[in-house]
Amino acid sequence: MAKRSKFVRPTERQILTAEVLASKRISPGFVRVTLGGSGLSEFAPMGFDQWFRLFLPGRNGLRLPTATSNLWYAQYLMMSKEDRPVVRNYTVREFRPAGAGHFGDTAELDIDFAMHGDQTPACAWASGTAVGSEVGLLDEGITYQAPQHSSWTLLVGDESALPAVAGVLNSAPRELRGAAFLEIGHPDDAQELGEPEGMRVHWLPRTDPATEIGRPALEAVRAAELPTQGVYAFVAGEQKLASGLRRHLADERGIPKADITFTGYWRVGKSAGER
Ligand SMILES: Cc1cc2nc3c(=O)[nH]c(=O)nc-3n(C[C@H](O)[C@H](O)[C@H](O)COP(=O)(O)OP(=O)(O)OC[C@H]3O[C@@H](n4cnc5c(N)ncnc54)[C@H](O)[C@@H]3O)c2cc1C
Repeated sequence: MAKRSKFVRPTERQILTAEVLASKRISPGFVRVTLGGSGLSEFAPMGFDQWFRLFLPGRNGLRLPTATSNLWYAQYLMMSKEDRPVVRNYTVREFRPAGAGHFGDTAELDIDFAMHGDQTPACAWASGTAVGSEVGLLDEGITYQAPQHSSWTLLVGDESALPAVAGVLNSAPRELRGAAFLEIGHPDDAQELGEPEGMRVHWLPRTDPATEIGRPALEAVRAAELPTQGVYAFVAGEQKLASGLRRHLADERGIPKADITFTGYWRVGKSAGER
């Protein structure tokens, strides 16, 4: 993850294994993969923007580091390139405990993949995966942390952050007030979010394919009327969107930096596999 401001990590962490129960294109720009299996019984859902590292099969199939906490990365680096799994970051779109699932008896976890073609490792996997295929998951917790003194919430993201904004809207107290600005690649990518009554959701489809990702969201927020006090902002998506908006909100709107959670989810021209 490129940059983040705050962090609530789960207390105990280990890489869990899960299996694909279903995979479906839910709209022009999204594929939803549902994971399940007995390994998911260890997953502790936290709501909001809870994210995790997703370990996908590498050249020699799925080989997972066994170390817990941050030691997994050293172990990963010691694996040969052929053995290494592909590791990408994703958000819990929905978690259903055992007994409340759509596909079986185990817990279920939905991931919404924003598809940017079908050639990149994560998108190729999401569009081509088969039921029964195995993956690994390492819970990384949540970054959304509205301070006690905030009275108005601003949520901004491109399509990669739609699951995070959806999770926040679903988990936040029903009295939450504010606005969400969500940029998407196609008008039909808009989803039902079940937002609190006091949250206004603005969908920002990029109608011209030449439009730079992140620009419509940046411009919409720049033009928006925001309260002068009490704003908490959560911004995620392409790196320039996240850092550009943080600068705007802090420098031009006077929002204290401590009240802005911003995260670069990806960066133009750079694979998350290049560290
Ligand atoms: C905390 C966190 C949570 C995230 N949650 C989600 C989520 O729930 N759903 C989701 O779809 N993404 C999510 N992302 C973003 C996702 O991890 C990246 O988009 C990732 O790079 C995708 O991997 P890849 O193998 O497809 O592409 P990579 O191999 O990483 O990159 C290949 C090329 O694709 C470009 N690229 C990468 N992502 C995008 C994109 N979204 N749109 C256009 N071009 C892109 C890169 O610039 C690069 O040129 C999250 C990221 C973080 C840090």
